[in-house]
Amino acid sequence: MRFRAWGPFALWLVTTAWAQVARPAEVENVRVWSGPEATRVVLDLSAPTDHRVFSLSNPHRIVIDLAKTSARRALALPEPKGYVTAVRTGNRPGGELRVVLDLKEPVQPKSFLLPPNEQYGHRLVIDLEPVRSDAVVRRTTAPAAPPSGRDLVVVIDPGHGGEDPGASGKRGVREKDVVLAIAKRLAAELERQPGIRPVLTRDGDYFVSLNDRREIAHRERADLFVSIHADSYRDPSARGATVYVLSEQGASDEVARRAAARENASDTIGGVSLADKDPVLRHVLLDLSQNAQLSASTVAGERLIDRLGTVTAMRKHQVQRAKFLVLRQPDVPAVLVETAYISNPSQEQALGDANYQAQLARALAAGILDYFQTHAPPDTYFAQNPGARVSMPIQHVISRGETLSKIAERYNVSLRELKRSNSLKSDVIRVGQVLTIPQS
Ligand SMILES: [Zn+2]
Repeated sequence: MRFRAWGPFALWLVTTAWAQVARPAEVENVRVWSGPEATRVVLDLSAPTDHRVFSLSNPHRIVIDLAKTSARRALALPEPKGYVTAVRTGNRPGGELRVVLDLKEPVQPKSFLLPPNEQYGHRLVIDLEPVRSDAVVRRTTAPAAPPSGRDLVVVIDPGHGGEDPGASGKRGVREKDVVLAIAKRLAAELERQPGIRPVLTRDGDYFVSLNDRREIAHRERADLFVSIHADSYRDPSARGATVYVLSEQGASDEVARRAAARENASDTIGGVSLADKDPVLRHVLLDLSQNAQLSASTVAGERLIDRLGTVTAMRKHQVQRAKFLVLRQPDVPAVLVETAYISNPSQEQALGDANYQAQLARALAAGILDYFQTHAPPDTYFAQNPGARVSMPIQHVISRGETLSKIAERYNVSLRELKRSNSLKSDVIRVGQVLTIPQS
């Protein structure tokens, strides 16, 4: 539905007429989330209810009428956020509840009901999107690439957000918060490298659908897509990082299958209107470029594992496969990193620690640069200016039972070179000591 003009006192009916008879319901809570594009209002309901939504102007408002509904006593109304300057409620004849959203500017509303899931009960979601005129949507042509080559684009995708908290630890550390922190640090690390432009799929606490995440990668013509998550399992001793690529034909193992199922539930938990689901994406996978994309994704995953292995335990030292919907991008090499188990108390604590987040981000950045050493397209600044590459030497923290010769073997360097680059006179090392791994 498109709005062509905004006249005074204009009224648009977005949803008309009660659909069916509903049970009496109560609005238990109202939340407002704000993203860069849209504002989302969520009404928590004790039962699903029929509703209609319409817009009013002078001043701009969105009105939501709910059939046979009341507001919970002492219902706390949210602070102004995004397009919403105030939320008001009032009872109407016939047992209706009216919720009014006062607005900064006209918006295009979209509403849908969501069934209960593990985290929430019934919800009515109202997404407020900017009113687009064709002039705004039309793109200007991209500027010509500078003679020295274009930027490599890395789309960094912190999972979950807003309504969808992702996994949570016993101490209350939430996946959506830690993965955002790691993603922002990773973007900052990559910014240091000339010729790389990181793009975040979200930079705050709001929900982004899996489709919108893929859409961002496509729109930005990403050279690499890295989705960042934290794992969860009922056994609190489960630990370690895992790097995944897409598989349409089943998963590497049961853990991989479960991880994909959990991450794919994001749209159901966060809430996406059925109209937003893109049927086209199901078919593009037949594209012949998929094999090349998959092999590039696997190389990227291997480089990430090499670097992650220096700062964290790995659940698997090989790239794993499962059907992660967010990785369904036929034209972009794409990996998903489960950084650690948030369900493991010591890993939960580490994930919440700024130092550890920085270590993970640095390892991810180094792995991404390692990948581009061999996979940067020839038209990029990075490929054309090898002298401008920032070096990110591998730092290895020595753990119990390791020997110098084992470490040399692991990184495929000679023992002599390893000792020389760390100014070691003997083979004696201690637990916790940090070695710099020379790069061939
Ligand atoms: Zn996740």
